Amino acid sequence: MSQHPVVAIDGPVGSGKSTIARRVAERIGFRYLDTGAMYRAVTLKALHSGVDMNDPQALTEVARSSDIRLDATPDGLRVVLDGGDVTEEIRSLEVTNNAYGPSQTAGVRRRMVELQRREAERGPLVAEGRDMGTVVFADAPVKFYLDASVEVRAKRRYAEHAAKGDDVTLEELRHQIELRDRRDSTRSVSPLRQAEDAIYVDTSDMGIEQVVDHLLGILREKGLLDGERAPADGASP
Ligand code: C5P
Repeated sequence: MSQHPVVAIDGPVGSGKSTIARRVAERIGFRYLDTGAMYRAVTLKALHSGVDMNDPQALTEVARSSDIRLDATPDGLRVVLDGGDVTEEIRSLEVTNNAYGPSQTAGVRRRMVELQRREAERGPLVAEGRDMGTVVFADAPVKFYLDASVEVRAKRRYAEHAAKGDDVTLEELRHQIELRDRRDSTRSVSPLRQAEDAIYVDTSDMGIEQVVDHLLGILREKGLLDGERAPADGASP
């Protein structure tokens, strides 16, 4: 499927996968692909267009007509939708709470998978989401499934929201996480589940750097880091 190596990282909300995927990508010199951001961008466009979130055809049309780019900049990853920067806007609670419709629509997923695989043709990736190891990059040489208890995940989200000054309680976040877990794992198209050959990592009692080092150790064992050093030594990529 993909010519370049892909490290696939999946897991539920709050498992730490975004931060960890980004850091691992930085450390090994691969590009970071945040596929949740792509579903969020489609959701934002659907909300702006006033599309019915229960209308698969309309949502598919929105996805098909969307140009979504993830640009690596010195300020981090910027999400560009139809030429406009939506990096901050896609993190709103409104987008989070409406992403379910687009992400359970087969036509939307087909378009996202196409865009995601195209990214893998451009170079090595650390790809993070819900269906990286099971569907999009099922042939990835290394797959991780990150997890943590609901309690820990709710606390992590609470800390993020508190830092932004959002008015939300721990209990509310816990309910939202349980609802999103249920939706992610029970939808009929590409539900969240651990690929058979994915390495399971429970991050409940681990700090971010600890998880990053653990993953890097496994990548080193699998020879992926050696492969990455080769181009810098002048070998062909
Ligand atoms: O990970 P994040 O919360 O940013 O994901 C946003 C939305 O996109 C969620 O509703 C999630 O279920 C969905 N998603 C998905 N498949 C992916 C990545 C995210 O359905 N590969």
